[in-house]
Amino acid sequence: MHTDDNLRRQYLDAMGIPVWERRVLSVTPVADDPVQKTAAPAPAVHPYPPEASPEWDALAEEVRRCTKCALHSTRTQTVFGVGNRRAQWMFVGEAPGADEDRQGEPFVGAAGKLLNAMLAALGLKREEVFIANVLKCRPPNNRDPQTNEVEQCEPYLIRQIELIQPKLIVALGRHAAHSLLKTDLALARLRGQPHSYQNIPLVVTYHPAYLLRTPSDKRKAWDDLRRARTIISGTTT
Ligand code: URA
Repeated sequence: MHTDDNLRRQYLDAMGIPVWERRVLSVTPVADDPVQKTAAPAPAVHPYPPEASPEWDALAEEVRRCTKCALHSTRTQTVFGVGNRRAQWMFVGEAPGADEDRQGEPFVGAAGKLLNAMLAALGLKREEVFIANVLKCRPPNNRDPQTNEVEQCEPYLIRQIELIQPKLIVALGRHAAHSLLKTDLALARLRGQPHSYQNIPLVVTYHPAYLLRTPSDKRKAWDDLRRARTIISGTTT
């Protein structure tokens, strides 16, 4: 078997996707099957723009220097976000953890490995999408973000979305969903429902850290991601 196929199998395994579906993935030539579409290697359709982006650089610098909430005093560094500034897919998590605080990049720990597998199962590379968090600084002991921290930090996320103009946003977990959708409904009520943020379709799914604790829900997360892919296919010309 080709190495890419092997890798892809590993990613699908990480997502808990059953064998019968993998076979469909690799052999059935169904033109409009969204799963089938991922079998082809995804081209980097929107590479980093070669031109300078003063707004983006100014925003990154503003975040780097931010002292708007108390988290600045306990952080090692801010975690701005990573990926393609012109991404079609934007993934939004909660807040940096210890690994992210140390490395300055979102989703680099165990949850990040699962997120990478989720992306790969969709046929996406990490560099191709944009990954950010609601909070740019780590809450001590990975506690939940506090209301005032979200209020202070959320303008940075809003500006990131404005500058990137993604075709679709995936909210990873309830904190991202609550912040972007301005709701406090339970995740179970938000999943599987159509949402949008500033006219950008938004799909709510489980946070990868939750999926590591509850692997039996990976299947539902995969359903969410497939729905997201169907939505983005419909918006992409
Ligand atoms: N969890 C998050 O929500 N974000 C990260 O960057 C890492 C873990």
